[in-house]
Amino acid sequence: MFRLRKEEMKKEGVVPDIQTMAEDIIEQAIRARDLGDTKKYMELKTQAEKMAQNVHFGQVVTLEQVKKIMDIAYPIARLSCVCRRRSRGFKDDENFFCMGIGVGMYKWERWPESYRGGVHFMTPEEAKAWLEQVNEAGLVHTFWVFGTPYIGGICNCEYPACIGIRNRLDYGISMLVKGEYVALLDRDMCTGCGLCVERCQFRAINIERTMLKAQINPFRCFGCGLCEKKCKHNAIKLVERESLAGLAQEW
Ligand code: SF4
Ligand code: SF4
Ligand code: SF4
Repeated sequence: MFRLRKEEMKKEGVVPDIQTMAEDIIEQAIRARDLGDTKKYMELKTQAEKMAQNVHFGQVVTLEQVKKIMDIAYPIARLSCVCRRRSRGFKDDENFFCMGIGVGMYKWERWPESYRGGVHFMTPEEAKAWLEQVNEAGLVHTFWVFGTPYIGGICNCEYPACIGIRNRLDYGISMLVKGEYVALLDRDMCTGCGLCVERCQFRAINIERTMLKAQINPFRCFGCGLCEKKCKHNAIKLVERESLAGLAQEW
């Protein structure tokens, strides 16, 4: 349907918005990659990432960081998640995983036809309590800019439904950048229970076979903090990416 509508828009002479253009480029990049055309894939990937940096990119944030954003953002509203709607066909009433922040929410309140499902306003305290619940459920918090540097959305995501995580992990296209932290393991504290492995959506943790201890690949870690929260033995801590020489530029 999305493709058909794009074709219709071309015929009607409707100029697509920059986000639609970026999605179109990503689609072409993935096709080029599937066909083994590495040169074209790299060109299109670079183009899409540049557009994202200027207009609409996301970054992984921890629960503590996203709660701080709730303290300075207003208004705050829950919204229906576009990715889950597209990839899983979730109905709006079971799909309120996204959050919109800022004055745009008043527009969508007045013209609900411009955003399916409408907006559900929350106080900052309600928003923080709800974020704690979705963190406990294992969802990754991300913020998204809508015209850099304006942060317009907070998302609570899961692979593979999340288009941002999927584009990054499956196709190497970076609309979503890593967070400010990296998870480090204290092997002496680790019991090898494996709870952190299940928690990590970025395939950064596994259980080492001989010692039966967790091991974290810091180059794969996006710094979401979900493993740290889940570990009951305080074996994982988050450290600032920029304090680690080899990872400081790994976004
Ligand atoms: S980025 Fe996350 S919450 Fe936002 S639309 Fe995608 S999956 Fe939904
Ligand atoms: S949750 Fe903690 S104790 Fe369990 S495997 Fe992971 S790091 Fe080790
Ligand atoms: S290792 Fe931990 S902090 Fe890093 S991405 Fe996985 S769950 Fe998140």
